[in-house]
Order: sequence, then C-alpha cells, then structure tokens
Amino acid sequence: MFEALSGKLNGVFDRLRRRGALSESDVAEASREVRIALLEADVALPVVKDIVAKVRERAVGQEVLRSVSPAQQVIKIVNDCLVEALGGGPREDGAAEHVPGLSLNAPSPVPILMIGLQGSGKTTTSGKIALRLRTRERKKVLLASLDVHRPAAQLQLETLAKQAGVASLPIIQGQSPLEIAQRAMQVARGELYDVVILDTAGRLSIDEALMEEVAQVKAATRPHESLLVVDAMTGQDAVQTARAFNERVGITGIVMTRIDGDARGGAALSMRAVTGAPIKLLGAGEKLEALEDFHPDRIAGRILGMGDIVSLVERAAETIDKAEAEKLAAKMQKGQFDLEDYAKQLQQIGKMGSLSGILNMLPGLGKLKGQIDESKLDNSILKRQAAIIGSMTPKERRNPDILKASRKKRIAAGSGTSVQDVNKLLKQFDDMSAMMKRMSKLGQKGMMRGGLG
Ligand code: GDP
Repeated sequence: MFEALSGKLNGVFDRLRRRGALSESDVAEASREVRIALLEADVALPVVKDIVAKVRERAVGQEVLRSVSPAQQVIKIVNDCLVEALGGGPREDGAAEHVPGLSLNAPSPVPILMIGLQGSGKTTTSGKIALRLRTRERKKVLLASLDVHRPAAQLQLETLAKQAGVASLPIIQGQSPLEIAQRAMQVARGELYDVVILDTAGRLSIDEALMEEVAQVKAATRPHESLLVVDAMTGQDAVQTARAFNERVGITGIVMTRIDGDARGGAALSMRAVTGAPIKLLGAGEKLEALEDFHPDRIAGRILGMGDIVSLVERAAETIDKAEAEKLAAKMQKGQFDLEDYAKQLQQIGKMGSLSGILNMLPGLGKLKGQIDESKLDNSILKRQAAIIGSMTPKERRNPDILKASRKKRIAAGSGTSVQDVNKLLKQFDDMSAMMKRMSKLGQKGMMRGGLG
C-alpha cells in the first residue's frame, strides 16, 4: 500500500544520490519533497509538519560521514522519523522496544473486544486472531458474535471459527449484545477457555447507538484488549473513525486491514499520532493466515522502498513445511532446483496468499510495481502453471533443457494451454532459480537489511 510514497521518496533520493556533499539547500529540497510525498500519501498535516521538522532539524548541521553518501544519511534520518511516527523506537521510559502483537498477560479467560465499522474486516480479523492464538500460542479460543442486527454476521463468524479450528458461542435468538457477551464470558469460565474474542456489530458509519452498545459491552466485560479494525483503503476516513472510537469507547490497539491493496500509506502514519494507540496487527489478504505483526521499522523500510524481506521470510517460514523447505534449500545451494521443486513452490505461494501481496514485500520491487500489470498476477496463473508442470514427464521436470518445440506442443495440449504459456513458465522458472540463488546467498550473509549505516 505504500508504493506511492516510496516512489516519491526514491525520486528525491535518486537526485540526492548524484551529489557529493549534504548542503543546507539539499536538505531544504529533500524536506520539501518529503513533505509533498507525505501529503500526497494522505498523511494528516500536523503529522507531516512534525516529521518534516524533525528531518530538517536532524539533517542540517549533521556532520557528513565519509562512509555513507549524503542521500543515505538523509534516508536514515527520514527512516528514523517514520519509525517514531509509526510508534516504534525506544519508549520514553527507556524500558523496551515496541512490542508487536497482542498482550494476553491477564488471568484467563482474557476478553478481546473487536470494534469497527461494517466491512472493515472485523469478523475476518477475529477469525485470523483466533487461528494465530490457537496455532502459535496453543490457546483455547472462543469466538462470539454480538451482531444481533445481521444474522448473516453470526453465521459468518461460526464458519470462520470452524476454519480456524476454534469454538464459537452457540447462537441464541433474541439475546442482546450485552447478554451474549456475558454468556460468552460465563461459558469461557466454565469451560476453561484462555481467550474470548467478542466481535461487536458494525455499522456503515459511526452513530451514537453503536457507540453506546460497544461502550456497554466494554464496561461489562472489561476487555484486556479493545482492538479497532480499520480499512487501510479508506485513508483519512479511517483516521477519523479511529479518533471517534478512541474518544468515545477507548481503544488499546489498531488492526489495519487490506494493506495488500494499493491504498496510500498515510493512514498508518497518522493513526498513532491521532489516537496514541499503537497499530498492533496488519491484515494482508482474505485468507485466515494473512495476518502480520506490525513492526514500525519494517513498515518504514517498506515506505522507503527497501522492501520487507523479514516479514516475507517469517510468513514463508510459517506456511512452508520445514522439512520440505530444508530439502529445497539444500537443493538450491547445490544448484539442483528443478521444475518438480518449482511446482511445490507454486503450491506454497498459493498458501501464503496473493502474489501481489508477496511482491509488495520484496526489496526493489516497490519501484517496479507501477510497471507490472497486476491484473495478470491473480492466482489462476499458479493453477495454470501447475497444470503445465503436471503435463510434463518426470524426466522433463528434472531436466527442463530438453524441452524443445514438439515436447512443448504436447505439454500445451495436455494442460489446455498454449506453447506461449509453456515458454512463459520456463522463463519464470529460470528467473526464479536465479532469484533463489541470490536469496540463498543473502541468507548466508544473515539476512542483512540494506546498508543504512
Ligand atoms: P466486517 O463487516 O467488518 O466484519 O468485515 P468482514 O470481516 O466481513 O470483511 C469484509 C470483506 O473484506 C470480506 O470479503 C473479507 O474477506 C475482506 N477482507 C477482510 N480483511 C481483508 C484484508 O486484510 N485484505 C483483503 N484483501 N480483504 C480483506
């Protein structure tokens, strides 16, 4: 979602890169561009002013280091300021770094209240959190829908609970949201649940009745976390929503959904400044696995176009079968990666979520993105490619070099595709093998993130 901003900043820094020393006019030009970029990225004006002032203050008069270029110095300063605005960095009490994820440090059952407008992704996020708590932290989770206005919402949560492998509170018609919440806590105490996720009703826009309902449930259940779910695509509206909910109900954290879309990144920057509540989690797709911790330093890196290789690797590690991955890594290092392995990779990518979401996270691709036709990146390509590989003989898969015209024709016919498609796949396989070699080299260097000095 941050392409627009990173593209702009890259423009500034490309120009700065060509200069030898950091002068006051360089800083002035850079801060003007940073200001425009942030405004265009939908960051609220007070936040923009704050960041730009900080960048200037720190950049001007700073000694020009010999080991890094002036542009790198400015990038580092902007990066630090973005991290701070996103809610990261050392805390004022100097105690600890920003702690990502949820806090469950309370006696069981721990209530988590989910708040947000209709369509923000609240119910989906409830399911995602339930899945994560069950699989990562072995928690016994109960999901409860308090949406008495839309029966469909209750059924949706029930379905999601099944998918996540957790329990949902049986529906009793005619109960009020408050009664449902109290029943959920009672059941949770009786049946020894660790966590109860209360999914409140959403509305199309903020209204007093909604606020009152949520406030009542909150007072009765005293949730350990009150998470506001906002849609990143709604930009400044999301910031206003956050402000309103925080003032009326009080929130402990924010979950931003649809960061897999192409929203401008400004909302993330404003959110913390406006509410004081940290962004804790990010929704990056429709699948239940598509939930990420919020790391300010990594998001700042993404804004600056440096990619987010750490998140990608983490997500990959979670979805990819470990033994399988180790076998693959060994093969890659020996240069034995073949189409059989490629087919397995395609399957894994399918499990990890959307292709364009993955692209977002690869370093260097932020810039490229504008040039890629994203409509061609849908997951049906994965299926087509799997079909093509399925139509090859084992010998062909191990040794793609033997694929000449006649074999290609046969494979195309067998998979219901064209020779062009087969060629495209082979080209992509070559590219991927090359990338894997690069990544495995990177891995050996300990996954360093760009030389920011
Ligand atoms: P609610 O009304 O707030 O409970 O919203 P839902 O959970 O029903 O979500 C509305 C729609 O947004 C559904 O189609 C979800 O699949 C979709 N959705 C939720 N989170 C994400 C996300 O992070 N990325 C994308 N692309 N879609 C999402």
